[in-house]
Amino acid sequence: MTANINLPRILRIGAGASRLLPEVLDKLNLKQPLLVTDAFIVGLGWLDTLETQLSEKGFSHSRFTGVVPDPTSAAVTAGLAVLRQGEYDCVVALGGGSSIDTAKAIAVMAHRDQPMRHYKVPNSIDDGLPVIAIPTTAGTGSEATRAAVITDTDSQEKMLCMGLGLMPIAALVDFELTLSMPWRLTADTGLDSLCHALEAYVSKKANALTDTIALAAMTAINTHIRTACQQPDNREAREAMMLAATQGGIAFSNSSVTLIHGMSRPIGALYHVPHGLSNAMLLADVTAWSISGAPTRYADCARAMGMAELRDSDTTANQKLVAGLRLLCSDLKVPSPGEFGIDAHAWQQSLELMTQQALDSGSPNNNPRIPSAAEIKDLYQKVWGN
Ligand code: NAD
Repeated sequence: MTANINLPRILRIGAGASRLLPEVLDKLNLKQPLLVTDAFIVGLGWLDTLETQLSEKGFSHSRFTGVVPDPTSAAVTAGLAVLRQGEYDCVVALGGGSSIDTAKAIAVMAHRDQPMRHYKVPNSIDDGLPVIAIPTTAGTGSEATRAAVITDTDSQEKMLCMGLGLMPIAALVDFELTLSMPWRLTADTGLDSLCHALEAYVSKKANALTDTIALAAMTAINTHIRTACQQPDNREAREAMMLAATQGGIAFSNSSVTLIHGMSRPIGALYHVPHGLSNAMLLADVTAWSISGAPTRYADCARAMGMAELRDSDTTANQKLVAGLRLLCSDLKVPSPGEFGIDAHAWQQSLELMTQQALDSGSPNNNPRIPSAAEIKDLYQKVWGN
């Protein structure tokens, strides 16, 4: 078995990396970017700053600012209309995972005619316009993944799309852009990164390279996430969380996500729970259920995060892992679905649909313990009860 590793061609990481956009476009011989972001980022003034830098260097450029959270196929269509009005040779994403995924979808759909749903997994999208990603959350790692998650406006399904066309050609990873993230966003996006790393490590598709990257990310996240939430200006914590987010993305994109993400996407799509939060709602219970499929791997995670001692047996380490994840979620005020405001009746009514969508995503098949439909339904019930 050989591991198949895909990465951006250029990764610039560190304070001020986002200011390197003109230099990176030059290096890639790209002349006319379409900038993609959401209205909130526009309000922060960062798009204006980028555009000024581009204009000073003589680049022709324009903007699409219609990104919505949990991006929809309708928003992608609106962005495509803007793209097709010009002669753009690349797409620049500035923002969180929603902006990056919208930019990726616009880039790969530029020369395609079918609706987005036609290209969801198990199909693959392997070409498109080049994307340069500038993340502003430390979470999704989308800047370094060959994935985009787009909600189908008609069916409300949160579709996973995969392929080399969705891998940014370059990523400018600048932790200074995350200093403005409020407490809740820092916690949710950081927990998303933790899930990426944990799931990549226990996945049936894990490999030697993703293992090292995933463990490093888990160590950093459990060390720094509480500080990043409590002290938004703490540069050391922000820098560590940003690197870990990119590492989490690299790890899961070259291994896979598993049952947590498979069950999380339907919760996000149906109930508009922020992505990292819906993962976090599932994190401890799904981990506890899955441990028997890979007890040594889960114990490694517990030790990497400092939740267990090196000398602990795997059984003890795994008990500490579940307790440690519950404590982390409690410290980070992760609500249950009911506490979040989801209606109990609606939750019950949607169990079949959520289970079907989780299975259709393919992610549960990569879990170390593969669930049946009935077991996924039971897990949704269990998560409701906590
Ligand atoms: P997001 O992009 O939806 O942003 C959430 C909110 O935070 C937005 O209002 C945004 O404007 C704001 N925001 C962004 N950066 C900020 C900053 N620095 N300061 C203050 N506010 C800021 O959130 P996200 O969690 O980054 O992305 C979630 C999306 O990413 C989901 O749709 C999820 O499915 C997807 N995702 C994609 C991948 C992938 O590999 N493609 C992986 C995981 C998740």
